[in-house]
Amino acid sequence: MEIKLVQKVMKVNDELAQGVRARLRAAGVACVNMMSAPGSGKTSLIEAALRHCGGSPRIGVIEGDPDTTLDAERVAACGAPVVQINTDGGCHLEANLVGRALGDLDLDALDILLIENVGNLVCPVAFDLGEDRRVAVVSVTEGHDKPAKYPKLFRGVDLVVLNKADLLPYVDFDMVFFRDTVRRLNPGVLILDVSCRTGDGVDAWVAWLRETAAVADKGKAG
Ligand code: MG
Ligand code: ZN
Repeated sequence: MEIKLVQKVMKVNDELAQGVRARLRAAGVACVNMMSAPGSGKTSLIEAALRHCGGSPRIGVIEGDPDTTLDAERVAACGAPVVQINTDGGCHLEANLVGRALGDLDLDALDILLIENVGNLVCPVAFDLGEDRRVAVVSVTEGHDKPAKYPKLFRGVDLVVLNKADLLPYVDFDMVFFRDTVRRLNPGVLILDVSCRTGDGVDAWVAWLRETAAVADKGKAG
């Protein structure tokens, strides 16, 4: 009984995600689902992109949080359109929530939509939100063993951001172990070392977002 119910929930989510994907494709908007543990710096990466991209691509943001509008306020302070989804304690976003949030965004004014998922390395992975690409964010303070412990997340992403790279001299982070694990799980995946504090790597992050937006644009034309 229980298994059947779970399968039905996932099927409904997948159908709603396809609807989100179709709406975004029709509008030529690329969509990125950002996943990480709490505190790894997803919001800081979004702020850094907004501050450094010079309006290209045009970025909109959906902020998923169990509570508070703190992250949405930070994004709004950068001048970007942002919609807050409060999950009321829920530990991941689902496609129905994203679908509703789309109604509060002017998709014609966007090239790319960044979805900041709820900080959690486990269940967000299972829920398609209608995104084109997935990003895993890990900060060096979390430890080099996170990909080994949460392989599902790292197998299914298009980019791994190693954040807070400026703190590497102060923590015991085994870079070789980290990179080897990521490459074993997801051969060929791009790994970017970024520090939102110093700005190192932010150019590469913005370049990746531009390339992602360009792919969606091509999809619309073709
Ligand atoms: Mg955040
Ligand atoms: Zn969850």
